[in-house]
Amino acid sequence: MIEIKDLNKLYSSAIGDVLAVKNVNLNIKEDDIYGIMGLSGAGKSTLIRLLNRLEEPSSGEILVEGNNILKFNDTELKEYRKKTGMIFQHFNLLQSRDVFGNIAFALEIAGWDKNDIPSRVKELLTLVELEDKERAFPSQLSGGQKQRVAIARALANNPKILLSDEATSALDPKTTKSILDLLKDLQKKLGLTIVLITHQMEVIRSVCNRAAIMDKGEVIEEGSVDRIFSNP
Ligand code: ADP
Ligand code: ADP
Repeated sequence: MIEIKDLNKLYSSAIGDVLAVKNVNLNIKEDDIYGIMGLSGAGKSTLIRLLNRLEEPSSGEILVEGNNILKFNDTELKEYRKKTGMIFQHFNLLQSRDVFGNIAFALEIAGWDKNDIPSRVKELLTLVELEDKERAFPSQLSGGQKQRVAIARALANNPKILLSDEATSALDPKTTKSILDLLKDLQKKLGLTIVLITHQMEVIRSVCNRAAIMDKGEVIEEGSVDRIFSNP
């Protein structure tokens, strides 16, 4: 599904160069919940931002379903971004819009017919088990509920890939578990490929089937979660 080949990302600035991603090679399969773990500064965010082309690599290739996403023209890139949802640690919801408005906004941008939007929003809220919160504003929701809204928004355009950047890092353990259970459930139901980055080993253990561990831009360990965490 996603093949990353010899990927490098160099940041240059006045205070010096940082090779944030160094010779990374990964193969992420269609039904993976793939974890990328590492300490702060390891290069996880840079890698996930390269995956949806919020950053351009210095060298290397990223193939998604066989297509080199670095060669996409504007139209292809727009289409690719629609098919790649993303969720974040701090949810990134619009505070001035209610739950319905936050999800509808993603559909409007993607060019959905106005008449189809209300039923699609309802469908998405059912998917994340938040039907009764359509008219609530983000400030009236718990962290777990906000992340459910963000997940509904990320799934609005039926993406194939869901990228998660520390999506449970701001949540308590019980809420973390409920969000991870939801992601697992959605992966099965929708056939999603999920790539999640986290600094929490428990997150990888509880939800991922495969994982890579990054350190100073490099992948230092990669494989099935059972193998990575087995005690020899
Ligand atoms: P992580 O997500 O694992 O915490 P990052 O990908 O954010 O790691 O950062 C990897 C390295 O790249 C760090 O040394 C960080 O300081 C550096 N870095 C990240 N973004 C930039 C940027 N826009 N400009 C310069 N350096 C950056
Ligand atoms: P979850 O486990 O889903 O994150 P919580 O147990 O934290 O939910 O919240 C329980 C209830 O309290 C929710 O129905 C939510 O609407 C309400 N609630 C949580 N935080 C706030 C808040 N800041 N303002 C208003 N209501 C809140």
